[in-house]
Amino acid sequence: MTQHSAQIAIIGGGISGLWLLNSLRNAGYDAVLFEKNALGSQQTFASQGMIHGGIKYALGGFTTPASETIANMPSVWRACIAGQGPVDLKNLSLLSEDYFLFSDGSLSSKVTGFFASKSLRGRISALSKTDYPEVFADSGFKGSLYQLQDIVIDTPALISKLSQQQANYIYHAEPQVVTHDGEVSHLQLPNDQSLKADRYIFAAGAGNAHLLTGTALENAKMQTRPLQQVMLKGRLPSIYAHAVSLKTVAKPRITFSTHPASDGDNVWYLGGNLAEQGVGMSAGKLIDFAKRELKDLLPWVDLTDTQWATLDIDRAEPAQKENNRPDHPFLKCAGNCLVAWPTKLTLVPMLADRVLAELTDPKTMLAPQAQKGSYPELPLAKIAKTPWEASFD
Ligand SMILES: Cc1cc2nc3c(=O)[nH]c(=O)nc-3n(C[C@H](O)[C@H](O)[C@H](O)COP(=O)(O)OP(=O)(O)OC[C@H]3O[C@@H](n4cnc5c(N)ncnc54)[C@H](O)[C@@H]3O)c2cc1C
Repeated sequence: MTQHSAQIAIIGGGISGLWLLNSLRNAGYDAVLFEKNALGSQQTFASQGMIHGGIKYALGGFTTPASETIANMPSVWRACIAGQGPVDLKNLSLLSEDYFLFSDGSLSSKVTGFFASKSLRGRISALSKTDYPEVFADSGFKGSLYQLQDIVIDTPALISKLSQQQANYIYHAEPQVVTHDGEVSHLQLPNDQSLKADRYIFAAGAGNAHLLTGTALENAKMQTRPLQQVMLKGRLPSIYAHAVSLKTVAKPRITFSTHPASDGDNVWYLGGNLAEQGVGMSAGKLIDFAKRELKDLLPWVDLTDTQWATLDIDRAEPAQKENNRPDHPFLKCAGNCLVAWPTKLTLVPMLADRVLAELTDPKTMLAPQAQKGSYPELPLAKIAKTPWEASFD
């Protein structure tokens, strides 16, 4: 067996693993990453790419821990995109600089009053008709439109940038975690190779539950929250918005993002309450429901000649009481292992700060080492297709 070494081994090549690889290597650590499928292939490419300030968690008319935790995150990402953050995202292309929230006119005055309140000032503002984006500039639109501070990231561009910056340290392999008395002793790799590290970071989304078996982190329990997202492709205008109405005041009825397809079409990717209600429905039934919802919310948009598909995907998170949505990124450490669930794309920079704080804590200190390890001979991981590329190509 050929034995290799690195200071830190990260398992999982979604946004968490790749962001951590960049921030740890930038901090001088000798870190490598293993991805078993393709980079971005699970939640990261299934996400809607919104880097949000938490307004959607305040739709019930009050700020919540979730909305407070996340309020500052768009500015952290903007700093990275300006080349001034802990991870270099300079010139990253955004799908949209703006995100909107529209109501069908039925929203209660309590909630609209709350939007205008002091606690949300600067995080949401009402738009006048002259500033409406194209999709809402139709005389058929009778509701109100608000602008949020959120931005929308092109996740394939993000993953491509993060992986290019560390291309030689990202391997395509499913390591077997070998443990001894709760500590990881090494990772068993293909072709009779192994890798020993000082720290092992499990950033494998839904894959973490299996990886933790036999480690001192076995008691860090995971929950999944299923969703069935809807996709439609055609000559569609761009829309980046939450639709809210009295029907579902506390949650967006539909969350819209738009993703350009290679043939010039746009793909509308629909989440929010629609995707939660869609769980367990047949694809055909959910698509019929989505068509009715769109007719109700955006009746002026022509949906003829559109192709439709759905995507089943689980959110993977630290377990919460009654499977509730967690408010914070999660990091737990024991012995030489760390397990991480960001719970949102938006919160990954906060997660990386916590990992760095753990590594530099005097009690558990791991000092960066200039000397490079000896790396395995394995193929490098490739970038995954997006769900819409996989469905409509
Ligand atoms: C439908 C949907 C929409 C979302 N929209 C948003 C949004 O708009 N904004 C936002 O902030 N958040 C959003 N999220 C949440 C966000 O996508 C996730 O929190 C984030 O992508 C999690 O990233 P991750 O890297 O931890 O996990 P993942 O992206 O799931 O990546 C885990 C990786 O680990 C790999 N892996 C698993 N097991 C192993 C193993 N044994 N060995 C090697 N590799 C392994 C997998 O192949 C995968 O590539 C959304 C989530 C979903 C599901």
